[in-house]
Amino acid sequence: MDFEKYLEEIDNKKEELCGLADSIWGFAETAYNETKSVEAMTEFLKKEGFTVTRPAYGIETAFTARFGEGSPRIGILGEYDALAGLSQKSGVLEKDALIPGESGHGCGHNLLGVGSVSAALSIKAYLQDGHKGTVIFYGCPAEEGGSGKAFMAKNGAFKDLDCALTWHPGTGNRVVTQSSLANFQVLYSFEGISAHAAGCPELGRSALDAVELMNVGCNFLREHMIDEARVHYAIVNAGGFSPNVVQSNAKVLYLVRAPKQQQAFELLARVDDIAKGAALMTGCKHSRQFIKSCANTVLNNVMEEVLYQAMQDVGVPEYTDEERDLAKKYTETVPEGSDREYEALTAACLEPENRKFMAEHKTDPLWDFIIPYEKKHPVKTEAGSTDVGDCSWQTPTAQIRTGTFAPMSPGHSWQIVSQGKSSVAHKGMLFAGKSMALAGMRLMEDPELLMKAKEVFREQTAGQKYIPIPEEIEPVALSSLY
Ligand SMILES: [Zn+2]
Repeated sequence: MDFEKYLEEIDNKKEELCGLADSIWGFAETAYNETKSVEAMTEFLKKEGFTVTRPAYGIETAFTARFGEGSPRIGILGEYDALAGLSQKSGVLEKDALIPGESGHGCGHNLLGVGSVSAALSIKAYLQDGHKGTVIFYGCPAEEGGSGKAFMAKNGAFKDLDCALTWHPGTGNRVVTQSSLANFQVLYSFEGISAHAAGCPELGRSALDAVELMNVGCNFLREHMIDEARVHYAIVNAGGFSPNVVQSNAKVLYLVRAPKQQQAFELLARVDDIAKGAALMTGCKHSRQFIKSCANTVLNNVMEEVLYQAMQDVGVPEYTDEERDLAKKYTETVPEGSDREYEALTAACLEPENRKFMAEHKTDPLWDFIIPYEKKHPVKTEAGSTDVGDCSWQTPTAQIRTGTFAPMSPGHSWQIVSQGKSSVAHKGMLFAGKSMALAGMRLMEDPELLMKAKEVFREQTAGQKYIPIPEEIEPVALSSLY
């Protein structure tokens, strides 16, 4: 089947798509505040004939845009939230805030959302041409710190899909072959008794002491947990700025991660006990508020292969000398030894010739090749978490990354914001859109392939329990906890 003509739909709408991504870059809205971004995307999708449901799954800035009817049903996931404090001028080769203190697209989600819109647009063209099925674009808010998809999953968002595809902007082109860490986020609040810190300290009970002791307790916990687990905290309320007052209220936000949900859940129970201990030691009351969780990602090698083939068939974009020169300058702004991006890219390449290939291209001005996909790659877990994990527990899911930024550009950095509207970013975004569209159409066209993907899904999830966000928990913007 010739899918080429459906991919052309993306080229035809290129200007509008890139303009949309640039607008979202400008809105730079953080988790659960993405109103303007949602407005812009839903307007575009409505104009293209999609049926938009907004809000969706009980979340104000979540939406769906669907086209077609019946099965197969394919989901395309898009994100559009920015990061606090990362405001940065576009195209500038040094850290320079556009509006000091404001947010910025430091994870490239302005591209993520629109790259996925492109894929949905192309699949729409295929469906319009008399093919059966439905494409559902999922507008997923608050990937950063809000687990938007986990809340959507709690309300059943992805369970009727045959499969789902997504992508993430990055420095190189590859199929994601690593899982991600499951996490739980809980806010612990301590309440003591305020008193004059010098005059009558014996009457006071310090909530700040409780927070400090809880953190000390958790720091001792670290030696007795699995290596891959992580425990992070942020003090969101230290009780005020007066040292001559015994602080009566203090809050600390914990983020507990582990490769499997169950492991993270068990670790969280130990953190809960430490909070109880800290309250007991200081004579404070304490309470616990569940904020959110993310599941680990269930991998699907059938879909990974379909995506890899699609990326190869679409072909990596071509770049000009000017684009290469500029990319090189961005890479030069990254401190020596920041090789984590490269490490992450090459982690799934174990075959000697693939490692050799990667090493030879390490210092290229742009990583304009597709990182070899090894069918028998080991299952490794990336150090981060993503709420794509929660979708992957409801339906077979796979992801790609494409090169939208200069090599070595670190995640959540000013370099990413600065490059977010560049021609390289746009090319990588449309490449992602086309690759997902082609993979999606091939999956929709071939029931046997979809069946294989579902078999792998069943194998990968067998004997494990998915722990959803508790029914009564509503999404919270972390910015509101301060
Ligand atoms: Zn991201």
